[in-house]
Amino acid sequence: MTELICIVCPKGCHLRVDEENGYRVTNFGCPRGEAYGKKELTDPTRVLTSIVHIRNAAHPCCPVKTSGAVPKAKIREVMRMLNTVCLSAPVKIGDVVVPNVCGTGCDWVATKDMGRENGSNEIRI
Ligand code: SF4
Repeated sequence: MTELICIVCPKGCHLRVDEENGYRVTNFGCPRGEAYGKKELTDPTRVLTSIVHIRNAAHPCCPVKTSGAVPKAKIREVMRMLNTVCLSAPVKIGDVVVPNVCGTGCDWVATKDMGRENGSNEIRI
């Protein structure tokens, strides 16, 4: 039996997951917590947020997030690869920064419009 706190909503129910009986979840407050408890022990994943360097913008970093939940076992690899990325402004919210990051099927995407330092959003090719 494993006890864990549900992170799906702020209520934070104290779930109990019985690995020896088909990962049966008890003590949940709603079905979302029941699903979370089972998944957390069988296939844990997380949506990640971070920042990445950007050139020619008013700020030195652009906020990014993964387009979906990545396996917990790959979190370190997914985060570290951002150290090799440097964007160039302008960047639009929702732009794919890194596709299929580390083979997870998820992308790193920008979560903020980042115009050029001089205020222009013109894209030069
Ligand atoms: S089980 Fe439901 S009510 Fe309880 S913390 Fe999780 S999502 Fe919220």
